[in-house]
Amino acid sequence: MGYASTRSVALIGVTAHVVDIEADAAPSDAGLHLVGLPETSVWPARARIRAAITNSGTAWPDARITVGVSPVIPPVYDAAADLALAVAVLAAAGVIPPERITGRVFLGELALDGGIRPVRGVLPMVQAAVRAGISRVVVPAECAREAAQVPGAVVMPVTQLADVVDQLRHGTLRDHHDQEPESEFALSSSFAVDLADVPGNQAARRALEVCAAGGHHLFLSGDGPATMLAERLPGILPPLTDEAARQVAEIYSLAGRLHRAPGLTPPLSAPHHSQTPAAIFGSVAANRPGVVSLAHRGVLHLADAPEFTRPVLDGLCRPLDSGQVHLAGLGRTVRYPARFTLVVDARPCPCLERRECACTPEARRRYRARLALLLPRVAVRAPIEQSNRGTRAGEPSEAVAARVLTARVRAAHRLADTPWRTNAEIPALDLRTRFPVAPEAAELLLSAVNTGLVTADGLARLLRVAWTLADLRGVDRPQFDDAAGALELWKGADDDGAR
Ligand SMILES: [Zn+2]
Repeated sequence: MGYASTRSVALIGVTAHVVDIEADAAPSDAGLHLVGLPETSVWPARARIRAAITNSGTAWPDARITVGVSPVIPPVYDAAADLALAVAVLAAAGVIPPERITGRVFLGELALDGGIRPVRGVLPMVQAAVRAGISRVVVPAECAREAAQVPGAVVMPVTQLADVVDQLRHGTLRDHHDQEPESEFALSSSFAVDLADVPGNQAARRALEVCAAGGHHLFLSGDGPATMLAERLPGILPPLTDEAARQVAEIYSLAGRLHRAPGLTPPLSAPHHSQTPAAIFGSVAANRPGVVSLAHRGVLHLADAPEFTRPVLDGLCRPLDSGQVHLAGLGRTVRYPARFTLVVDARPCPCLERRECACTPEARRRYRARLALLLPRVAVRAPIEQSNRGTRAGEPSEAVAARVLTARVRAAHRLADTPWRTNAEIPALDLRTRFPVAPEAAELLLSAVNTGLVTADGLARLLRVAWTLADLRGVDRPQFDDAAGALELWKGADDDGAR
């Protein structure tokens, strides 16, 4: 009988690994044996591959077929390897010439009728294949545009297993020639929303600008246009670097949402409070990043934050501290990037009665207390209020973005020899040792610590914001006014126990 080998790609988190797939056909009982993967995870795959082959007009080989995947990387079988396994089986059985599948990567999930279904994560998978020196990739037709974004990839889109078998037999599997040279995600899809549309709310607008300039998290307190403000934050942030845009595109590809990737504009991710922790943080079993990772390098907005469940609110602390989501399960840990600017907003109380609110002070306190772990990590707070559309138009995003960029350039210049790019990223120790503020500024902030207004952790956050205020003013280091400004932004104008 025969032997054949080909390749596919497996994903762990956002890291793609090229895998070898080997098939061997022996004259024995007809059956398909998948080696090296947990039995429970492969039996649906075995059924799919068998059905797809027999429904594609090819008789199931009258042989014992053994298929091995190596290295065994995923804890569960990934259906993206279906197509590679099917062609390996057919090549081992002599239906397809084995040499026609060796120099190629095959990606695609099989339907029982032999159709080839799209898979998630094609962008990082094809990148891994090209890095491994295999440029010829066979992908589901729906994923061809995504695959074609990888420089150097020669993409062959397919829709039916029967066609793939036929073309491999006759040596006519065609490369995709009408691929577009420019990468889709590199084209900026700038936000169509503008800060000029947000009525009033001067304090909140100023807080938004400070957060954009320094990368600080923001708490908007009250009943007002929080969503309008959050939606306009990506538009005043500097555009993503090519490297950051590539990371964002990989995550969106993995989530099956590359068509929604934001281009060079920092992404905005705004989950609803009814979403499950798996949807928010991601899932190991599904190898799918969560909503927080779709905010990587951009903005995560939690509207009506106290309405979210405690596992979500408290679970956000880890990505806020580390810039990553750690997921454990199926005997392994998966990490997804999640470094974002957080915007949370909260109404004063749980009811929606603006005028006839009868909530007790205790009910209000309990409502805000749901944010007890999260809010100490948020350096900038501001009140929001409903404001008449008639109030004079605010400054447009373009003008604010220009000031943000100038401040960011100042900070980047100062941080040139460090791993950090924004003030919000500077560790507390380095703030003390490498970036001293003016003595009067230090004195003011220390007195706030001594009077119990802020904790030692809070002090570091105040210092970072003071640096951003200095950058926005164009001065070399924070003076008394910058420290006082940071203290004001820390207090917000809200006395509902936000700290
Ligand atoms: Zn109320």
